[in-house]
Amino acid sequence: MSLQELVEISRYYGSNPDYVIAGGGNTSWKDGNTLYVKGSGTALGEIDSGGFVRMDRAALARIWTRRYPEDAAEREAAVLADMMAARAPGEAGRPSVETLLHDVLPFLYVVHTHPALVNGVTCSKEGEAAVKRLFDGPENAPPLWIPVINPGYVLSAVVKEEMEGYIKTHGRPPEVIFLQNHGIFVGANSAAGIKEIYRRVMDRIALAVGEAGLALRGNAAATSPGEEDVLSPPEGETLSHHAASLPQQVGDWVRAALAAYYPGGLFVRFDRNNEIARLVQDRASFAAVSSAFTPDHIVYAGSDPLFIEAPQGLPSATCRGGEVGIAYGESATAPLRGEQEAAPQGLSSGATYGESATAPLRGEKEAHSPPRRGAAVLACCATPDLPPRQVAKAVERHVAKTGRPPKVVAVQGVGVYCVGVHQKAADLAYALFLDAAAVAGYTEAFGGPSFMPQDKINFINNWEVERYRSSVSVKETKE
Ligand SMILES: [Zn+2]
Repeated sequence: MSLQELVEISRYYGSNPDYVIAGGGNTSWKDGNTLYVKGSGTALGEIDSGGFVRMDRAALARIWTRRYPEDAAEREAAVLADMMAARAPGEAGRPSVETLLHDVLPFLYVVHTHPALVNGVTCSKEGEAAVKRLFDGPENAPPLWIPVINPGYVLSAVVKEEMEGYIKTHGRPPEVIFLQNHGIFVGANSAAGIKEIYRRVMDRIALAVGEAGLALRGNAAATSPGEEDVLSPPEGETLSHHAASLPQQVGDWVRAALAAYYPGGLFVRFDRNNEIARLVQDRASFAAVSSAFTPDHIVYAGSDPLFIEAPQGLPSATCRGGEVGIAYGESATAPLRGEQEAAPQGLSSGATYGESATAPLRGEKEAHSPPRRGAAVLACCATPDLPPRQVAKAVERHVAKTGRPPKVVAVQGVGVYCVGVHQKAADLAYALFLDAAAVAGYTEAFGGPSFMPQDKINFINNWEVERYRSSVSVKETKE
């Protein structure tokens, strides 16, 4: 029992993308009157003892005796001020937004994550019933289910109250808490106990997913290419006839349409794999990922992925088999034009093609291997003006409707463009978009997808704390 054990278990889950992506998740350890909780904006995968903020538990407990304003922004600001004041003497870090929740759970270790597999349950129509069905057992105190609720103080307050009721009923605290449209809290008095519980939970959900006939996938892994998803030239056309690649050309249009919203420059990456190809077939197939499942999806990939119907004049929907996702002539290795920053190596831009989607976040070299021979798609030379205007109009409509530019732009029959102020931000948008796709897939085992309600989405979009987390996480990894 030590801070070192907390560091180890934090890294254990933080470095596994099946559990944690980007700055997601948080962990804690209680040592008498001191709570060590992950600092806001710190990544679990590389955390060391300095990444935890020491909190005075007596001061945290006093927060529950106070009254806070009704107004959400005022309330969260006041609670944040009290949390900062509850830090142990000399502590300079900013504690996780979920600190209060960590403190009220009566376990020495608490590990909170957002696994896609778990969120396949928490973001599904029959999530609550599924939890009852999967985990209710005579000798097993069942997990606690918390309906979708705004994060921060309100979530902690609801969990505290629900837990007190649970203890009255079951005579012990819940070691597993499912948060609808959010993730899972696991508590135990040893690191080994945490692992044991997580293993049990993940195995049980995986079993149910398998029983529903669905495949499991690694979070960061893309499915392998299959015939039906491959783009190929229209019959009678040859690769050499078409100098420009469609993804590159459409990428230029996306970039142009968004440039005005990124005065400091933007980074655009393109991806397509089998799963993405299926999702961008048409608006109906995109519906499963057309909104946000969890707060992390909103923070990193935006709450409103934009779907653009195949721009007129593009023979984009010709999918007739071939070898690999998308491959083209030389242009495929060229950067999307107007790049602001050079990538460290290999492909000198955010344009990653075809199979690169299998490992974009690990910095693996093969992610930038040259495109494989095979199918090609073309930017038809016939109507050069129309498609860019269509893309620009779609972006304008999106901004007018949502008040912000999209971080994920899906183009029918082509693929997805993830956008950010620099490569790291675009990569994060892609990682969370892939995660949403995985979650959507898993929900099929539990009655289908159920997005966050719009008022909860609005809350996150406006939440200063989340904005801070998002900006810190992006800043830290900028180098
Ligand atoms: Zn969380």
